[in-house]
Amino acid sequence: MTNLINLFDIDEHVEFTADLCVKCNICTAACPVAPVTDLFPGPKVVGPQWQRFRMNEERGDESPDKSVDYCSGCGMCTLVCPHGVKVMEMNSRAREKLYDGDIPIRNRALGRSELMGKLGHKFAPLVNWGATFKPARVIAEKVMGIHRDAPLPNFKFQSFREWFAKHKPHAEAPYRGKVAYFHACAGNYYETAASKAAVLVLAHNGFDVVLPEQSCCGLPMQSNGEFEAARSYACHNLDRLAAYVRLGMPIIGASTSCTLSFKSDYREILDVDHPDRDLVAANVYDISEFLLLLHQRGELKTDFQPVDLGGTLLYHAPCQQKAHHMGQPALDLFDLIPGMDVRLSEASCCGIAGTYGYKVEKYDIGMAVGKALFDQVREIGSEKPVICDSETCRWQITHATGARSVHPIHLIAAAYGLVKM
Ligand code: SF4
Ligand code: SF4
Repeated sequence: MTNLINLFDIDEHVEFTADLCVKCNICTAACPVAPVTDLFPGPKVVGPQWQRFRMNEERGDESPDKSVDYCSGCGMCTLVCPHGVKVMEMNSRAREKLYDGDIPIRNRALGRSELMGKLGHKFAPLVNWGATFKPARVIAEKVMGIHRDAPLPNFKFQSFREWFAKHKPHAEAPYRGKVAYFHACAGNYYETAASKAAVLVLAHNGFDVVLPEQSCCGLPMQSNGEFEAARSYACHNLDRLAAYVRLGMPIIGASTSCTLSFKSDYREILDVDHPDRDLVAANVYDISEFLLLLHQRGELKTDFQPVDLGGTLLYHAPCQQKAHHMGQPALDLFDLIPGMDVRLSEASCCGIAGTYGYKVEKYDIGMAVGKALFDQVREIGSEKPVICDSETCRWQITHATGARSVHPIHLIAAAYGLVKM
């Protein structure tokens, strides 16, 4: 016997999951945005409830109002829903329909992190100075709608690819094969330390790391309503990465939101039509996930030295990391480092949600969402580094608390003696 839901692949029909909603409100309790603003009525209302209006033929795809734009896309609702309602995914699709191709220039700019990196990194000192020059930020706020205090990235003059071309680490013995590294835009132009740490750790564990040609995963465009552009970036990546998978290489990334795009967003939000979409999705790994799998097979080197950073550290698992459904592999890896004492943050979200907290009308909401996390950072001591897997979350944490924030792989590489903290 089959039920209605089993008549089609539920993942391919996100909108139909609205009918699974039993109005329990668990998603509303988990949503970090709804409690801090009256502009967003919460996931149950904006998601499954209004999906029924959106699926009404006379209304077309129209939402009853524009509040879906205040959903940050954090994904907590989908994560906690006990009935499998794809709330975040249907909200994302509804937002694309809301814009209907009429994307504000600000959103287009925020969606182009790769282009920004390409253009900006060669002028890094000037661009980084501009980002801290208040009059320029006020003008950018008035003209573009990017909040004057939002934590912009710090450009690196030497990109990760340029560094890798000169300093590619050699696989140490015992040799375990080749892996392909997806550095993403941030890992190439802004957060190069995390990419360097990742490839050094992989080489230390016997892997020959190769860098496929690649482009932005498309997530910044997707979350700013530009689905067609995001799909074209997705296809560009799938065209290139599938060849490496066919050669037997896993694709590994240290940007948790970008690896999640491959694993689920390309299918469940963008509905990317590409023959290798599912092949690549099944072979993409977050760096901590990959290392923990190695450890479980008895293949991870454990020559870790103690790293003393002044006592207990805070680890914040970003929303996108939780959506991988892989637990918190970084915490399991930290357990292997002698003397390491790490506490898991009890906050759900830092509030930045990719580019959400950059927008002038959403900046205060983002800061209010992140307050619980910022309080925990201060309580544990903002002179100590905060560990977090996502680059924009790290920038937000530093912006709000003054604490330095590092990727878990940085700590692991330091414990191997490969980098300094
Ligand atoms: S948690 Fe799921 S079932 Fe409950 S109200 Fe939210 S969407 Fe509906
Ligand atoms: S994705 Fe996040 S902000 Fe949006 S409705 Fe779900 S929990 Fe709330």
